[in-house]
Amino acid sequence: MNRLLVMKFGGTSVEDATAIQRTAGIVAGRVAKGLQPIVVVSAMAKVTDLLISAANSAARGDRSSALAITERLRIRHKDTAAQLVTARRTAEKPAPHPDPEEVAAHAWIEAEFDSLDEILRGLAAVGELTPRIADMIVSWGERVSSRMIAEAFVRFGLKAVHVDARQCIVTDAQYGKAVPHDTLIEQRLKQHVAPHLTDGRVPVLGGFIGSTEQGVTTTLGRGGSDFTAALIGGGIDAGAIEIWTDVNGIMTADPRVCPDALRVKTISFEEAAELAYFGAKVLHPATILPAVKKNIPVFVLNSRNPENGGTRITALAAHCRSPFKSIAVKKRLTIMDIVASRMLLSHGYLRAIFEVFDKHKCPVDMVSTSEVSVSLSVDSNEKLPAIAADLSKLADVKYEGRKALVCMVGENIRGHNGIAARVFQSVRHINLRMISQGASEINMSFMIEEDDAEEAVRSLHAEFFSDPDPEIFDVEARAPKA
Ligand code: ASP
Ligand code: MG
Repeated sequence: MNRLLVMKFGGTSVEDATAIQRTAGIVAGRVAKGLQPIVVVSAMAKVTDLLISAANSAARGDRSSALAITERLRIRHKDTAAQLVTARRTAEKPAPHPDPEEVAAHAWIEAEFDSLDEILRGLAAVGELTPRIADMIVSWGERVSSRMIAEAFVRFGLKAVHVDARQCIVTDAQYGKAVPHDTLIEQRLKQHVAPHLTDGRVPVLGGFIGSTEQGVTTTLGRGGSDFTAALIGGGIDAGAIEIWTDVNGIMTADPRVCPDALRVKTISFEEAAELAYFGAKVLHPATILPAVKKNIPVFVLNSRNPENGGTRITALAAHCRSPFKSIAVKKRLTIMDIVASRMLLSHGYLRAIFEVFDKHKCPVDMVSTSEVSVSLSVDSNEKLPAIAADLSKLADVKYEGRKALVCMVGENIRGHNGIAARVFQSVRHINLRMISQGASEINMSFMIEEDDAEEAVRSLHAEFFSDPDPEIFDVEARAPKA
């Protein structure tokens, strides 16, 4: 049996000393089961957002706002480190004064934030924020969290060791969204992680951050810690990857909208990727790739409810008697209707339209075409007036915001025609704007007014999840109505 296990803890799982202590307990539980964890952590909750604001303030020349943000971050990390020392002490024996462990932790945290402040001062002086400097600044969250958590793990009795992720996650130089270099990562993991595993230690790395071959700090894009976990899992051929978050895994629908939503116990990579794209905040789509390639199962688990089984994501879908696994909604969309005037039926027309979106770096969600018109949906964004202006050189353009895309995902819809009829029957009272059965053949989606989204999800959920397959869905959690 492959005992190597990558455990990734997101920002909320390490948001404060209590959460970090809970995380240590979860890791210790896996060690006690004979597993060999490699831990990947995010920055403490909200830290990345704050670092981005600090960078932006400094770039505007607003040095004092930037430094006010890092001052708060410095205090938060020092307080957390101190609480982590105390938590251990009270369990053992009273703390000496001054506590040498606390002093040591504070010294390195101070030094880290001193050098961050130095960069921000320089940035405020030159007033130009390059993507390279932005990555350098936002990397601080994971640089500091990973070291602090590794030290806390040691205090909580784990044989843990901090490994700077930038030594292992080698990427190209596309700052802000760097592309990992798989073979180099594999080599670096052999060099910097494998020896610790041989010695029975638990390596702790920051997610999200990497570096170029020349050693310049990069990041993998927002939410990139999941990606780090998958890269490490793939690189060391782990037996499994656990993504620890603050939800009970993937649900059949958003429980805030559908109180009887169920946990999906098992889902395929393809289905999960489809859902991730809809911002089902559980997982980053790119996470999936390095794990899929090596057939490594990924579990999504809740660090506040560790006994819960979570969702297992596997290469192939398990058989399921219902057509869908989950209903996702993406809001804040705009529909653009582009009606050909002059260029009717000319070839190259669609290309010309898409070139406009490409030029504005605006991704398109959904497309439907007829002889004379193209409708497509995009995330509502501030570039739309400029895009519409460019498009109007080719066609008549209208656009309308406040739309939502409802997407139903499931492998079992392949080749089942009657399902579309059931879907449309259950939302017959709602006005559908665009309909698509995704090219992947595992999603059916339609666009509606944003205000209708919740009603649509509840109707679809009642239609498709009233008799759930117990092999796939956690039916036990559906509490009998009192
Ligand atoms: N800290 C990074 C972010 O907030 C990466 C992550 O948490 O996955 O985007
Ligand atoms: Mg995340």
